[in-house]
Amino acid sequence: DGRPYTVYTPYSKIWKAQYKSINLIPTPEKIDTPAGIKSEPLPKFESNKHFPAGELEAQTRFEEFLHKKIYAYANDRNRMDLDGTSSLSPYLRFGMIGLRQCVSAAKQAEAQTRSAEAKRNTEIWLNELIWREFYIQILYHFPHVANESFNPALKNIPWRNNVEEFEKWKVGKTGVPIVDAAMHQLKSIGWMHNRARMIAASFLVKDLLIDWRWGEAWFMENLLDGDLAANNGGWQWTAGTGTDAAPYFRIFNPVLQSVKFDPHGNYIRKWIHELKDVDEKVIHTPWKYEIKISGYPEQPIVNREIVKERTLKAYNISKEKIKT
Ligand SMILES: Cc1cc2nc3c(=O)[nH]c(=O)nc-3n(C[C@H](O)[C@H](O)[C@H](O)COP(=O)(O)OP(=O)(O)OC[C@H]3O[C@@H](n4cnc5c(N)ncnc54)[C@H](O)[C@@H]3O)c2cc1C
Repeated sequence: DGRPYTVYTPYSKIWKAQYKSINLIPTPEKIDTPAGIKSEPLPKFESNKHFPAGELEAQTRFEEFLHKKIYAYANDRNRMDLDGTSSLSPYLRFGMIGLRQCVSAAKQAEAQTRSAEAKRNTEIWLNELIWREFYIQILYHFPHVANESFNPALKNIPWRNNVEEFEKWKVGKTGVPIVDAAMHQLKSIGWMHNRARMIAASFLVKDLLIDWRWGEAWFMENLLDGDLAANNGGWQWTAGTGTDAAPYFRIFNPVLQSVKFDPHGNYIRKWIHELKDVDEKVIHTPWKYEIKISGYPEQPIVNREIVKERTLKAYNISKEKIKT
């Protein structure tokens, strides 16, 4: 009916229905740019050894992903301790690889296998590319999301915005290992696993009741793939304020997430030096054990028992305000 899609599932259905095979054109040898245009001063180039810049690197990663990982993507993508995703986001973000090439290759990977399960895995990866497109069109049609919640009923949440707690979240000293590991990963390599992004974002917004825009800005500053549409979409989804978002009353339990998606604690050990010798049983909740870990907080910065009630109260205040 001409109105933009605000729910992902019907958007992705129509996206897939309208898909026609892509005729990829070769890379142009030369792009003519208008003469006489002066460049603004460019920032100093800093290389990142975890994500070397360039088209060749993007192709190498993509080939490796297509060779095997794409066929196990459905399960492995959620495991923070595995390298189960493509890690192409910075390359897609800066056009070192094109979306059309990714879509076309995902379709080919689907056609190349006879296993229904393997086909399903390729489709799940394609769905992620469609999420990216979905958020781009949301930002285009609803530019106000860049500054405020998509859902008008959740514009007036009385955030606590405790600066000290925000600082602890940023440097990975909340005392909740999975959250801290995520924040260390971000600071160390400029990238964070998707599941870790959801956990760290949820902790900031729902457990600490800090405005999602603060977290969004910190991610933008530190992510190599930082992109307004995807980042804003991810934050508003997590906060429950966005289009087709997680229900606002659903609050992630970071410990359950940690046990489920980092079952042996390897992700935590990798990113938190102070916890590198802590065993599997203790690592998700060290505060429950009589041990002292030098350099790591003894207790989490928030008592989870009060979280749900406090958060729901704040969200409900905003919902009530819109009625008056
Ligand atoms: C709070 C939060 C903030 C985020 N910020 C960003 C951001 O700034 N930039 C960004 O590219 N992604 C962002 N994401 C989405 C997602 O976390 C990353 O795209 C993904 O982790 C990149 O890893 P990958 O390349 O291995 O992804 P894969 O799992 O291999 O997915 C392939 C590609 O699909 C796209 N994609 C995957 N998931 C999503 C998604 N949920 N939304 C939009 N696109 C997606 C990415 O371009 C990604 O490279 C955010 C998610 C959350 C929850």
